[in-house]
Amino acid sequence: MDDKGLKDNKNSINPEEKAGADKPSFCIGVGNDGLNFANLTLENGKKDIKALDLVELKALMSEMKQPAFRAQQIFKWLHKECAESFDEMTNLPLTLRKQLDDNFVIISAAIEKKLISEYDNTVKYLFRLFDGQCIESVLMQYKYGYSLCVSTQAGCKMGCAFCASTKNGCVRNLSASEILSQVYVAERDTGVRISHIVLMGIGEPLDNYDNVIKFIRLITSPDGHNLSVRNITLSTCGVVPGIYALIKEQLPITLSVSLHASNDEKRSAIMPVNRKWPIREVIKASKAYYEATGRRISFEYALVKGVNDTKTDADELAVLLKDLNCHINLIPVNEIDKSELKAPNKENVRSFQDYLSQKGLNITVRRTLGSDINASCGQLRSSVSTEVE
Ligand code: SF4
Repeated sequence: MDDKGLKDNKNSINPEEKAGADKPSFCIGVGNDGLNFANLTLENGKKDIKALDLVELKALMSEMKQPAFRAQQIFKWLHKECAESFDEMTNLPLTLRKQLDDNFVIISAAIEKKLISEYDNTVKYLFRLFDGQCIESVLMQYKYGYSLCVSTQAGCKMGCAFCASTKNGCVRNLSASEILSQVYVAERDTGVRISHIVLMGIGEPLDNYDNVIKFIRLITSPDGHNLSVRNITLSTCGVVPGIYALIKEQLPITLSVSLHASNDEKRSAIMPVNRKWPIREVIKASKAYYEATGRRISFEYALVKGVNDTKTDADELAVLLKDLNCHINLIPVNEIDKSELKAPNKENVRSFQDYLSQKGLNITVRRTLGSDINASCGQLRSSVSTEVE
């Protein structure tokens, strides 16, 4: 570990950008407010049925003069059987299937590319959405089951210096259906049951708050996919008001906070979001989240050679997190094209970890899965954009 200076990161968002009128006030907003596909009505006038919860489906059935139990049947087809067409819903009358088909679509995601790691069977998907946007998901196998890392936005505007997903900014938010589809298509494709979800793919989940919350409520519904809420992890770069809003949802999900530096100067240089919500506010919000939910906070720390891997950084980190029930995930930074940020060697990663362990912090180095298939966020999407260019 040695101390070296930082270069200011020019690849940054404007954190002062105003929120769109249709978004929670803390959302930084996507580039084009007209491209938020929540409550989607497509060009053909059809609506997105997968984003309706059971209450909304019951209201719809009542409008269509159908008995209420049809709502339960449709919900089950959509969220338990992961149906991709109304024809599959064989216990519905043909007339109802036709009516639904005339007025609704079942949003899905087409597999554009699929890479399977020869080392550990990690599967990386590049999905193409209905409007041509591409997103990524990664299916990983652990001792406890299968975990899918999903995307929440097409692109990201947060400007983290080490991340490929932000290189071309954010095109739009994903609807709840598009987030769900990543899970359902991956399950259908592989035949495995996904037990854990990590909202850590492309995009900042708390910048697409409403759709992300709807996704969580839909996928955990006992009438549908019935995934355990406790098996969901939401990762944020530190959108502080979003963390407080999450507390009010009373969802016992795990909060993972991307910290990546232990003082404001260094964090602002690699994570522009820090200029809007500095470290002390992020830590305060994380404490509040732990106190309200009892869920241990997970802090992500991407180690960058000569930037945040020094003894001083480790000392600052220990002070910052000393009173918090948390776990630190050390990740040697994934080196992306044209980036000057490099990962430290294994010995330096180990010495950073050991030093903090000795100070009583709960710290592990994240196991790298799918290293032969570029499994980290945004690299595949970016390679496709480059191909298109
Ligand atoms: S690390 Fe996450 S928040 Fe930061 S730019 Fe990448 S996708 Fe966005």
